[in-house]
Amino acid sequence: MVTGRAAVFLDRDGTLTRPRHYPSRPEHLALADHVGPWLRVLQAQGVALVVVTNQSGLARGYFGATDLDAMHQGLRGQLAAWRVRLDGIYACPHHVDGSVAHLAVRCGCRKPAPGILLRAAGELRLDPARSWMVGDAASDVAAGHRAGCRTALVGPPAPGDTESAVRPDLRTEATWEALRHIAERLGDAGHTRW
Ligand SMILES: [Mg+2]
Ligand SMILES: [Zn+2]
Repeated sequence: MVTGRAAVFLDRDGTLTRPRHYPSRPEHLALADHVGPWLRVLQAQGVALVVVTNQSGLARGYFGATDLDAMHQGLRGQLAAWRVRLDGIYACPHHVDGSVAHLAVRCGCRKPAPGILLRAAGELRLDPARSWMVGDAASDVAAGHRAGCRTALVGPPAPGDTESAVRPDLRTEATWEALRHIAERLGDAGHTRW
């Protein structure tokens, strides 16, 4: 029987990259401090690394799919400097208040819905029960729990986000600290074939 790999699902803005209001160009994305080395450790443990991000800027017409691709190429380039390769980047382009008609819909993939995590788990053969969702918002924690993952909430609490409301399994100030904890807890659990 083939079992899925353990994964770390990473929110992008404010978690993998520094907070910024609606980034739309590659140079707007800067890796958060010290995440490269810890992602490298997790990757070496056999853990899949998957970005799951709400990008309502697409529905709002702030940028297009080509811009998003360029941003993510840039992000992959920054991570390559640490010899880190993402297993996938999954983005929800929707928002009910959007101005781009076909994206202005209620969907099952915008966090706190678990849709993009579950889709990634299916496509990449991941095991949510052995996986973690790391994010800086209550919606990340909720999406992670709904997908059956453990969760880490990072950074200073955002307005409206209270720990008591979302109950993450882990709470750290910086993303790299959460990644270190997860690497320690998973150990070699991420390995499935070597
Ligand atoms: Mg975020
Ligand atoms: Zn969506």
